[in-house]
Amino acid sequence: MVGTKHIFVTGGVVSSLGKGITAAALGRLLKNRGYKVSINKLDPYINVDPGTMNPYQHGEVFVTDDGVETDLDIGHYERFIDESLTRANNTTSGQVYSNVLQRELEGGYEGRTVQTIPHVTNEILAAIQKVVEASHPDILITEIGGTIGDIESLPFLEAVRHLHRSLKAQDCVFIHVSLLPYVASAGEVKTKPTQHSVRELNAIGLQPDIIVCRCQVPLTEDVRKKVALFCNIEPQDVIENTNLETLYQVPLMLEENGLARSVCRKLGLREEAPDLSEWEQIVENFLHPDKEVTIAIVGKYIELHDAYLSIVEALQHGGIANKTRVKIRWIQAQDITEETQKELLQDVNGILVPGGFGERGMEGKILAAQYARENKIPFLGICLGMQVAVIEFARHVLGFADAHSTEMNPQTTHPVIALMEEQNGIPNMGGTQRLGKYDCHITPNSLAHRIYGQTDISERHRHRYEFNNQYSEDFSQAGMAITGRNLARNLGEIVEIPAHPWYIGVQFHPELKSRPNRPHPLFRGLVAAALEQKQGGIINE
Ligand code: GLN
Repeated sequence: MVGTKHIFVTGGVVSSLGKGITAAALGRLLKNRGYKVSINKLDPYINVDPGTMNPYQHGEVFVTDDGVETDLDIGHYERFIDESLTRANNTTSGQVYSNVLQRELEGGYEGRTVQTIPHVTNEILAAIQKVVEASHPDILITEIGGTIGDIESLPFLEAVRHLHRSLKAQDCVFIHVSLLPYVASAGEVKTKPTQHSVRELNAIGLQPDIIVCRCQVPLTEDVRKKVALFCNIEPQDVIENTNLETLYQVPLMLEENGLARSVCRKLGLREEAPDLSEWEQIVENFLHPDKEVTIAIVGKYIELHDAYLSIVEALQHGGIANKTRVKIRWIQAQDITEETQKELLQDVNGILVPGGFGERGMEGKILAAQYARENKIPFLGICLGMQVAVIEFARHVLGFADAHSTEMNPQTTHPVIALMEEQNGIPNMGGTQRLGKYDCHITPNSLAHRIYGQTDISERHRHRYEFNNQYSEDFSQAGMAITGRNLARNLGEIVEIPAHPWYIGVQFHPELKSRPNRPHPLFRGLVAAALEQKQGGIINE
């Protein structure tokens, strides 16, 4: 295919409608038709990236291979289209304005007045062009964050209008994902909010070609015709998108409801149905598992599951691979004390301590790691969770009572987790984050080796602190081995306890690379170990 075709996805009426999932699912349907697809998100907020945003505000920060902290929708895109995306695939208003201001300071505008149109809009178009240049997709799906009517998204919509004017009709499709609320007292689905939202788009100069209707109940023919008539589209381009048990059903539902067919028709591409058998198997395994395990996630944002989105997804992938339902027990780390430890954890089949920052909940996480170690419960510690495992082992096995990470206790006499500079005796230089992918060499015949089936891997990181190499000998002699190292910088990346059936801590974030069709080995392994633990009964005296 010559040149990239563009699909733009906007949102109507309210946020959190699943625009990202719709875009990602469409990407999967087009990829299965044999096209090279990329997806890109334009985020209207002014923050430069979500890296410093509170998880309560924004949910999880998703990190790409090239070390950028992005929106969690990028994670959905990667999981659905099974491609690794880059810094080009997420652009925020903050980045756009910061580039424009930088250029202005450098004299790049040669004394002209800098304006939203064309300077800001051109910067947005340059960002879209970067995605095209980075990956040369046949089809680029661009999701515009926020809801039509938001002030922040106007420059993005204006830029897209400019781009639309420069493209041939067959090279560009607009999809509006909108809410059709069901009013129970009237027993009716209402189209008015969507009509208004499309009118607002029209006022900006944009006309959707397809409307994806998020609704609780199936669309009747009448509703479909009404949306078509009032919004200037054909009834066949009104696509139903109802709620489902799992996100992974969305591509199958949207295929059945004709989204990709409509898109292909408009883009002049083949319309015939693709082979979706791999995806059907994923959904089948998810919906009809023959076993079940319970895995505890011990974290501090547990009331906000989006904060651990990729971990939840990766656990589901592990479940799909083992045809097992993974029930998650959310445990607030602060609730775990010596008194509650047993009551909260005794009937779980696996314990996962995820990443995190700061002091809150640390002692509870340490108790969870201790419980898993002493009771031979499968344990996966991720990033801070790995550091927690190290601290726990130092305190209770090595007897270093005040062992800690210097992040939480800079005065500790046993800084088993520390900044790299501290390890080398250099004062803290500010410790910038280690972000993105790094190689890791695994010790042959270790648990990690058995899990991965290879000795050289690459995983994504997001942290400042590291295992303190000065303690390597103490740990390995007492029974905690460092079985993964980044050789270039001599950093400990994986710890495990050989005497335990399945206890592993990783300094990286494996959840970011797990895909439903290619479950991450650590999550597949954790679920398999939890199944074994369940069959063997609780080893708990
Ligand atoms: N706070 C820890 C560090 O910066 C762990 C970070 C994380 O879990 N992502 O090293």
